[in-house]
Amino acid sequence: MYLIFLGAPGAGKGTQAAKAAEKFSIPHISTGSILRHHVSEGTPLGIEAKNYMDQGLNVPDHLVTPMLLTRLEEEDARKQYILDGFPRTLPQAEALEVCMSGLPKECWFVLNFRVPDEVIVTRAAGRLLCRRCGWIAHRTNSPPKKEGVCDRCQGEMTRRLDDEEHVVRERLVVYHRETEPLIEYYQKTGRELLIDGYRDVDVIFEEWTKRVGLT
Ligand code: AMP
Repeated sequence: MYLIFLGAPGAGKGTQAAKAAEKFSIPHISTGSILRHHVSEGTPLGIEAKNYMDQGLNVPDHLVTPMLLTRLEEEDARKQYILDGFPRTLPQAEALEVCMSGLPKECWFVLNFRVPDEVIVTRAAGRLLCRRCGWIAHRTNSPPKKEGVCDRCQGEMTRRLDDEEHVVRERLVVYHRETEPLIEYYQKTGRELLIDGYRDVDVIFEEWTKRVGLT
């Protein structure tokens, strides 16, 4: 099964994908995480991407799309994956469409996690991320068991620089301008499943896993 998670930054895509990865052993492929890894390693791609990421802008397609398509060629992604944060633009969606053209329609789903903008801004203000494994927590809603320490790998929990309010607001503008049109694109092909993302994490998880037939 191939799942594509759409939704504004902070709509809960990463949290839902991580839960599914853990429960069903599906590879969770987050272009944001891959890019953050490049940034922390100081690769040429990371150096170029950082400027865009710090400003809350999308990294250009010619950098992100080949990076993602290369990742999809790895063995673990042959039969199943969850894409979190890709596609974000129409050219990215078209490139993915070509890559998935041979797959039966019933194998892939596009889940659209919808959350109001103001909730996103509040959520981002409390969001914490493990520097080592990428586990996501929230200062008040779902804090780590031990302050500042990742529940999963004992890594250090930090804030993302792009979760600062002014950057989140810019990311929302970019989302509405460049990514939201994809919802209509997928609605036309009958692939979009709308999920109300403004509910308890476990309730949301149960709903979408049932709808796509993951048990
Ligand atoms: P995320 O972790 O998905 O919120 O992504 C963090 C940042 O990485 C975004 O604000 C973008 O700058 C960049 N990014 C992640 N995925 C993509 C993508 N598919 N296309 C362009 N930029 C991306």
